[in-house]
Amino acid sequence: MNNSGQIRQMDKVGRVAVPVSVRKTLGLVPGDNLEFSISGDKVLLQRYTKTCLLCGTDHDVSPYRTETIRGVREIYLCRSCRNNLAKAEEMRDY
Ligand SMILES: [Zn+2]
Repeated sequence: MNNSGQIRQMDKVGRVAVPVSVRKTLGLVPGDNLEFSISGDKVLLQRYTKTCLLCGTDHDVSPYRTETIRGVREIYLCRSCRNNLAKAEEMRDY
């Protein structure tokens, strides 16, 4: 991991500006989604890409609303898994 040593202060509502050099290096532009995750005592920040919940691909992924015992939840599925799910649901109806 490249430790550039750039320090930014978090404001009162928790916002932190991503340094210009980091944005340029990673090609981040306004509107990109970033994902926070925690590893031990470190916070990791990476570009968020929607991936299929079932197979993990990021190709041809779209939102899919499903009902769970906790209510309606939006997940992401690729076209292939969505088609397989539709076939399984058709089989269940027989
Ligand atoms: Zn998939």
